Amino acid sequence: MSEITIAIDGYSSCGKSTLAKEIAAKLNYIYVDSGAMYRAVTLHLMNKGLIKDGHFIEEQVIEEMKKITIGFHHNPSEKRSETLLNGVNVEQEIRNPRITKRVSAVSAISKVREKLVAIQQEMGKEGGVVMDGRDIGTVVFPNAEIKLFMTASNETRAQRRYDELIAKGEKISLTEVKKGLERRDYLDMNRSISPLKKAADAIEIDNTELDREQQLDVALQLISEKIKEQSSLA
Ligand code: C5P
Repeated sequence: MSEITIAIDGYSSCGKSTLAKEIAAKLNYIYVDSGAMYRAVTLHLMNKGLIKDGHFIEEQVIEEMKKITIGFHHNPSEKRSETLLNGVNVEQEIRNPRITKRVSAVSAISKVREKLVAIQQEMGKEGGVVMDGRDIGTVVFPNAEIKLFMTASNETRAQRRYDELIAKGEKISLTEVKKGLERRDYLDMNRSISPLKKAADAIEIDNTELDREQQLDVALQLISEKIKEQSSLA
């Protein structure tokens, strides 16, 4: 049977990308980090000086979108896929807190979403893809065979993100991290275009009390049931 499409959505720092990468590795599917694409656009606009104090002129952004190419390449030594902005590897830079702070405003611009969604749909058109983001099950792949919606308590998410940032040497407090996450979720859930929400047919996984292996087991169980169901129908 042909390979299926797996859409993973959810709040910030819910472990979506960790889970998505592990599923992709297990099934030998392609993993696509759609958030990295919104981050790359944000980096480009900031580098061009088009975002000042969080403000931008929408016409300028739309014009700039015509000049941007975004893709991924596989880094075999790191065993990960890395984000390319106009051919340049920006994997590190797009994770910087200054990008995290602005990305939700940029991702609310309809022309930005239009372009990135088209690229995402092209990447996943043959199936065999695990994509994580905010609108994958609702907009990018509304017919995905598996849709997961990840949640975890705000405290757990903030602590995980805080630990990650501290390990990278960032100087930030747990309170700041928690505020930042809550602000980003609020913006992502309340924008007018493709807001973050659980698709009607998505299965929710709350991983507050689950470790990586347990969450992977839950997801793989759901996926194998779905694949069996599909094969029996074929
Ligand atoms: O997943 P990540 O935290 O890297 O995503 C960064 C931001 O990109 C999100 O907060 C959201 O504003 C935006 N995003 C989006 N739609 C997606 C993926 C990410 O709007 N499919």
